[in-house]
Amino acid sequence: RACQHQISLAQAVLDTTAALKELVENALDAGATQIDVNIKGPSALNLLQVADNGSGIDARDFENICKPSYTSKLQTLEQLGSVRTLGFRGEALASLCLLGNVQLLTKTAQATTGSCLSFDHSGNVTRIEKVARERGTTVIVTNLFDAFPVRKSSLQKATKRETTRLLDLIQQFALVCPGVRFSLSIDGKRTLKTQGHGSCLDVIAQLFSSRTVSCLVPIDTNPTQDSFARMTGYVSKADKSCARSAADRQYVFFRSRPIEMRKLCSLITKIYQKQVGQHSYPLLFLHLELEDGTFDINVAADKRQLFIHDASTFLEACTQYFCELYKVKDY
Ligand code: ADP
Ligand code: MG
Repeated sequence: RACQHQISLAQAVLDTTAALKELVENALDAGATQIDVNIKGPSALNLLQVADNGSGIDARDFENICKPSYTSKLQTLEQLGSVRTLGFRGEALASLCLLGNVQLLTKTAQATTGSCLSFDHSGNVTRIEKVARERGTTVIVTNLFDAFPVRKSSLQKATKRETTRLLDLIQQFALVCPGVRFSLSIDGKRTLKTQGHGSCLDVIAQLFSSRTVSCLVPIDTNPTQDSFARMTGYVSKADKSCARSAADRQYVFFRSRPIEMRKLCSLITKIYQKQVGQHSYPLLFLHLELEDGTFDINVAADKRQLFIHDASTFLEACTQYFCELYKVKDY
């Protein structure tokens, strides 16, 4: 049984990107307005560090914080239906302890000093030291996947792909949380920085360029005409000079989290291509809101997939909206 539990924990965090996603979500759940990510080594295997200025962790939680299934976000099972925090399963920190060496630096507003906690692979606290720090939490993971040589070597080989995915992930969080200041350093080099104020468009300008912003038109629709769905955001103008050569900047967000919606993205792309030409891809920053009870969300290890119950009605309505937007008649 213990072994089985270990397997399921190890599967909760499949790679560095999944680990980083969990840590950033924890920081957001803790109300952070500043999140600094620091990674070192191929695929962040040497260091994965996320520092936030959120609530910090109460000393009463130290002992259990990295234990499997420990979460401060659910008090009763009934709350499971209404969770609005990003995490609630209490698996991320326990998984990370299993996969690497974990240290936490943390301080709450009430605590007089900060604490530095070290953990063993089972999530037990092995050491507590007092340290000076501001309110918030820093999670430091070193030697990630050392005990899993096969996964480690595959991640080592895929450094470039993994780095792109890590950057993309932080970009997505920055886009969906314009009020949070994000920074990302890779091997000591500052790769990304946002200001933490302004709108989604400001973040787009900070992440990409102000020219990118000038290529966009707003999306604002309730495509099915009832309260069932609402889409807001931005998409490329029908202008060849604004097109991208790959679908690499198409983001869909649902309730402030990045999700995957391949069908919708490819639908928009196809309509866009009818107007702009083949091999042209629009930028897409789309926020989706759906009524409770009209969708399911499948939380896979590293991505979220949204299943809309009446998907064909929804996609048809979207087709109409984007055909009008791009003045495409025969789709
Ligand atoms: P979950 O997020 O599902 O509750 P985690 O394993 O990710 O589970 O985290 C366990 C607990 O540790 C959280 O419920 C929260 O109380 C605490 N925690 C983790 N990261 C932070 C953080 N950055 N700031 C404050 N508390 C945190
Ligand atoms: Mg979590």
